[in-house]
This record gives sequence, structure tokens and C-alpha cells, in this order.
Amino acid sequence: ERNAGRCGGCGIKLQSEHKDQPGYVPAQAIEKEIIICQRCFRIKNYNESSSITVEQDEFLRLLSQIGGKEALVIHIVDIFDFQGSIISGLQRFIGNNPVLLAVNKTDLLPKVTNWNKVRNWVQKEAKEAGLKVEDIVLCSAKQSSGFDRLLDAVAEHRGKRDVYVVGATNVGKSTLINRLIRDYSDLDQELTVSRYPGTTLDMVHIPLDDGRAIIDTPGIVYPSRYSELVSPEDLGAILPDKPIKPAVYQLNEGQTLFFGGFGRFDFIQGERQSFTCFISGRVPIHRTKLEKADELFEVHGGELLSPPSRENLQKLPDFTRHEFRIPRGSRMDVFISGLGWIKINGENGSVVAAHVPKGIKVMVRPSLI
Ligand code: GDP
Repeated sequence: ERNAGRCGGCGIKLQSEHKDQPGYVPAQAIEKEIIICQRCFRIKNYNESSSITVEQDEFLRLLSQIGGKEALVIHIVDIFDFQGSIISGLQRFIGNNPVLLAVNKTDLLPKVTNWNKVRNWVQKEAKEAGLKVEDIVLCSAKQSSGFDRLLDAVAEHRGKRDVYVVGATNVGKSTLINRLIRDYSDLDQELTVSRYPGTTLDMVHIPLDDGRAIIDTPGIVYPSRYSELVSPEDLGAILPDKPIKPAVYQLNEGQTLFFGGFGRFDFIQGERQSFTCFISGRVPIHRTKLEKADELFEVHGGELLSPPSRENLQKLPDFTRHEFRIPRGSRMDVFISGLGWIKINGENGSVVAAHVPKGIKVMVRPSLI
């Protein structure tokens, strides 16, 4: 029995107002009595999943329904925005179900990267975020690398469980799922009807060749990431599209680096030392004196200091300043969610500050690379 007004693919309540929200169907389609939502339609007919997003509360409500099931959860995170894309409360909501952490976009790290070190780092940081991670798979949806490992890990850990794929927006969830569909699915089978009739679970059940299935959940929107804040053209600038070329700056105290007009990094106190910027090559770095930085931004933000354009800059929230005291002997990154990070190479301690639009997550973390 199919519920009237609900998608026959995923069970979501149908609507025709918001294209990018769950359950969208064009108005004519509703009249024509078509019963699957546009997302299911696209998967079925074009082998293509697209990003559907929900706010955090809605997402956690969806998640908590996984808690009562036997599930294997594939949590996709973005290595370029690790702390911005990890769902830190995940474990509380999914109960004792195991988590596979798929760390995507590894193609963005510099060509010479110590992958064992990256893996260990991910393990520590995931633990810090309260995740009980069964396995970590480094992958690149763009290069189709790591997929065999991912599928092996799924086979090893799933038993009779359903596989749920969860992630923040822009981590590459649909790219990855599209690869899985293309390479492993048999879409002559129907998309199965939601097992949760009468609920508004927007989960798409995609049958795989081997009788198994993956269940795609909507992407969770975290407003604390730069990638959620900027216009599409600026997103093209801040998201790197090729391996990051680390840029090293020798700074004296009292010097500042601007990252286009997106943000700024002050070296306030400490011995002369080097700082390595891991940001998109399309965001130019401009060095200046700390004492002149406010004025420079005031006068040249959106022009000399761009992207973003002056117009787009005005749409961003005002900058807030985050100051950090880096202890002697530590190896730290100042991480700016969605924009990248600055590695502090000095061993003798320093005082630094980052200026970014209000609401963007900024933190100090053990250095990734
Ligand atoms: P979703 O919102 O999680 O479904 O993410 P998408 O699949 O739409 O991808 C978001 C952006 O990240 C797009 O610009 C993709 O091209 C890009 N992307 C996805 N996977 C990768 C990857 O493995 N490497 C790189 N460099 N970019 C990726």
C-alpha cells in the first residue's frame, strides 16, 4: 500500500515548492500522479543522485531512527574540511552501530603526503569527536581511488545490516554514491519503497548488484563552514580543484597574511618563523604589516584583496578575531573551516590570530601534515 502524497521510492512527503529540498516534484508531475520524487526519479532514470540538504535538527531526527536498527554507517568526511565536516554527535544518535569513516578528497592533499601519518591523525581526531570508528578508508571520489577498499570494508563489517551513507554537504557524498551506482548497481530493480511507511524519512534505498543496498540520506548543512557561506562563484575559488601547493611564508612578529578578502592571519608575537598555508591556489595570499592590516582591508577589501568581489564581501558577516597562544614544542594548524589551514612551523611558541566572518569555525588542531 502506497501512501497518497508520498514518494514511492523513498517515502518522503511530496512537495513542489522547493527544488533543493526533500520530496520535490514539479507541480505537473503531481497532477499526473507520478509517485516518485525528483531525486528518486533521477537515480532511477539517469543513474544519478543529487544533493538534497536538511538542517541539523531534521538530520539528527533522521539519524536517531538509525539507532534502533541494525545498521552500518558510512560517514563521509572531507579531508580538506575535516573538523567542519565530521558529525561529532553521530555516535549518540546511531547507538552501537559501527561506523566506517570514508575520508574523501584525498586527491587534494599535496602529492608528497605520508598517508600513514594522515590515517593516524584521522583516527585520533575521530576519537576526539566521540566516534567509534570501525575502519578508516582514505578515498577520492573524483579519482575513484579507495573504492575497492571501501567496498571490502563494507562487506567485512556489514553482516546483515543495511548500509547508510551520511555526510555534511559538499563532502562529495553524491559523487561517491554516483560512482557506486554506476559501478555496482542494478537499476532494473525498483528503488525499494521506504521501510518506514508513513514517516518522512528522506532516505533513498539503492539496490546493488549483489542483492545488497545502500541507503542515501540527505546532506546535513553546517553553517559554520566557509563553503556554506559564500556565493557559488566564490565557492569555486575556495574549494581547491587540484592538489594543494603548500605556500611557505617566513614572518616576523607584527606581520599579517590576507587570504584574498576571505580572511586574515596575524603573527602577533614570537621569534621569526615559517608558516605554511594550505589553501586553494585560486585564493591569492597578500603579506602586509599587522599595524596596517585593518586599514588595508577597509580600503582594498574586494579589490586588491579579492576574491570575493566587493559586492560579495559586503554580503558576508563582519569579521571576528580568534586569538591563539601556541605552546612551545607543539606542532599545530590554525584551521579555518572550508578555507583551509595554516601550519605553524616554529617550535618556540607564538601568539597568532585569525580573522574570519562571524560564525565560521576556527580552531587550533594538531597538524595534519
Ligand atoms: P555532496 O554535497 O556531499 O553530495 O557533494 P558533491 O558530490 O556534490 O561534491 C561537492 C563538491 O566536491 C563538487 O564540486 C565535487 O566535484 C567535489 N568533489 C567530490 N568528490 C571529490 C573528490 O574526491 N576530490 C575532489 N577534489 N573534489 C571532489
